[in-house]
Amino acid sequence: MEKWKKRFSRRTRVEKMLDEFTVKSAPAWGFFALVAVYIAANVFVNLTSASEGFIIINNQRVMHRTLTGAFSSIDNLCIVMLVVLYKKPGFIAAIVALLVQFPSLLIRMIQGNYSVIPGFFTNILMIVTVSILRAFIERSASFQAKMRDQALTDRLTGLPNRFAVTELMDGMIRKNEPFAIALINLNYFKNINNAMGQQAGDKALVQLADRWQKLAESGKTGTRDIVACQNGNEFAVIIRDYHSEEMLHRSVECYAEALKEKIVIDDSDFVLSASFGYASFPADAKDSETLFDNAYAAMIRAKTTDHTGYICRFTEDMIDSGQAIETARRIREALDKGRLFFKLQPQFDMDHRLRGFEALARMTDENGNLIPPGDFIPVAEKSGLVERIDHEVLFGATEFIGRMVKKYHSGVVLSVNASVRHLLRNGFVEEVKTALERSGLPPEQLEIEITESIMIDSVEKAIDCIHQITALGVHIAIDDFGTGYSSLSYLNSFPVDVLKVDQSFIIKMHSGEASKQYVAAIIAIGHVMNFRVVAEGVEETDQLEDLREIGCDYIQGFLWGKPMSPEEAEKLMEAEWKHSQTQK
Ligand code: C2E
Ligand code: MG
Ligand code: MG
Repeated sequence: MEKWKKRFSRRTRVEKMLDEFTVKSAPAWGFFALVAVYIAANVFVNLTSASEGFIIINNQRVMHRTLTGAFSSIDNLCIVMLVVLYKKPGFIAAIVALLVQFPSLLIRMIQGNYSVIPGFFTNILMIVTVSILRAFIERSASFQAKMRDQALTDRLTGLPNRFAVTELMDGMIRKNEPFAIALINLNYFKNINNAMGQQAGDKALVQLADRWQKLAESGKTGTRDIVACQNGNEFAVIIRDYHSEEMLHRSVECYAEALKEKIVIDDSDFVLSASFGYASFPADAKDSETLFDNAYAAMIRAKTTDHTGYICRFTEDMIDSGQAIETARRIREALDKGRLFFKLQPQFDMDHRLRGFEALARMTDENGNLIPPGDFIPVAEKSGLVERIDHEVLFGATEFIGRMVKKYHSGVVLSVNASVRHLLRNGFVEEVKTALERSGLPPEQLEIEITESIMIDSVEKAIDCIHQITALGVHIAIDDFGTGYSSLSYLNSFPVDVLKVDQSFIIKMHSGEASKQYVAAIIAIGHVMNFRVVAEGVEETDQLEDLREIGCDYIQGFLWGKPMSPEEAEKLMEAEWKHSQTQK
């Protein structure tokens, strides 16, 4: 009950503000004009109905009384317009106007003036009509309000949603009222969802929304604020009534401070962190869309700066990241609208027997154009979206390959890329475990590809995490080997199973014996350390022959297979299975 009361009061507060900005109500002078016309017409009705006078038109007598009907219609029209245009006040005015006539009508009837009888019944009928009209208007208005409420409210938190934010911003811009918009993106929020389940994540969001809402209402920020929920783990605060940049910054800081207090869900404590970016009207943009983009750019800058809870104010130099912002928007949209999918590129042993597949993320824009991962993965890594991409690919590909493994009793290995950022998060191991449980894919048939940069980023944590993954039985491959920080001593401390030699070395093999020997050395070291070696990007037969000669274990490249759809991958597995059946 309390919860609903709270939500209701939030709704009405924001609704009122939105109404202030958006709902066009009829002007007050119109109300008085209608009342004045009504009174004047009424006076004429009374005068003409009792009059025996006449005027001459075209040599004919026209009694004053004949005009009574016309004035009476004007009266009724005024009454209806009052009810329709001025809602409750109009209805009250109309009822009062109709009721006050009864005493005089009754007195005249008692005095024997029966000509007022039609007027008496018209009055009663008008009261009935006006009441029905009012009930009808109220019902449709409450339905409209409900629809509007649903369209403008975030269902989980009860806060205004992104549409409400846009409407509010447009309203303030129209009124030329200065304000700022702060965007807040929770860092690593999926941790909670992954570790505790979606419901716990929802509870955390509701608690946080309440906390920020209370802060906004308390006025402790020193400014007048409206907290909104953009979507999932993204919030917005509209800040008004600040008199200086310092005041504005302090207000945003209050929301960051409020995050430091722990959140308790089902007896577990969580401390959330978030990235804050803000921009103000009219200093940073003249329209809501640009202002929003600018605040978003500032938020992305905050996210990519290595401080947790960092707050960034928009500055002009961030506009350079416009392209990245657009890409981040597209990624978000693709994820939300299911336009992110995966392809599978086959890997073979040197005898052209299928070893397995690497799952590679693919994304299309709203027009169906394919955007290559080289364009969106780096942006996704910076904006934190890569975790969602990895998640989609991991769950989608394990589900598919798990099914195929059961169907064709296949021993294929599925390789999945994991960004360093994602891997180092708490909860990654849980995610892998869940994917295995859901898909039924045997752990030894899953391989997680990580890049060497993990060795620089956070060695201790990385080693710990990789040990946990291998403890599940899952294999680890080092992707793009040779392009980064190839420390053999670190490599030695990782329980790695596979080295993937980067395509750039395979391409160079042609340029001379030294380059070929370099690849040979990598393969030899790999074998000494007990790793299998995969050559990436094999496009030509010569490369294949060289690799065979220097003892490479597996190849992955356009020569034997491009990234393909799951349907095509199934055909390949089916052919492999049929072949194995004939061998028996
Ligand atoms: P990667 O993991 O090294 O994947 C191999 C890339 O080489 C793929 O590019 C593949 O299409 C390409 N390739 C394979 N054979 C050949 C060949 O013979 N010739 C040429 N020219 N290219 C070949 P793609 O699919 O464009 O992916 C690029 C990179 O994006 C990947 O490199 C990986 O680092 C990243 N990526 C792709 N999917 C994901 C994902 O789901 N999560 C993460 N975190 N990163 C991903
Ligand atoms: Mg890879
Ligand atoms: Mg690679």
